[in-house]
Amino acid sequence: MSGATILVVEDTPANMKLVTMLLRREGYRVLQADNAVDGIEMAKSELPDLVLMDIQLPGMDGLTAIGLLRQDPETRHIKLVALTAHAMKGDEQKMLASGCDGYIAKPISYKSFLEEVRRILAQSRHIHHERPS
Ligand code: MN
Repeated sequence: MSGATILVVEDTPANMKLVTMLLRREGYRVLQADNAVDGIEMAKSELPDLVLMDIQLPGMDGLTAIGLLRQDPETRHIKLVALTAHAMKGDEQKMLASGCDGYIAKPISYKSFLEEVRRILAQSRHIHHERPS
């Protein structure tokens, strides 16, 4: 799914720069936000194919933002991947419970990072348990 639009929400400039460079080199269109509130706003206005969401952000944290995007009928279909610095025991469950489709631990390994992005973009996202609004 080259040409897909990916929104990166990341507050550390070096990480943002690296992730953006890797994705653009693969032909993805990259949008950037450095905090969760701007990221949510951009997700609603741009409807990217995928959001890569850092977990540790100033103000609202990434898991809360993922939960909000997943609850909103306008954004619930978007694929959401958490970026985390701490791959600790129990984290995976916590992250999947927030509604994300996967997570990537930092520091990223270039090859497995891009493989994971490709894998998730290729999945179709079926929405289960649709609640009436
Ligand atoms: Mn961060």
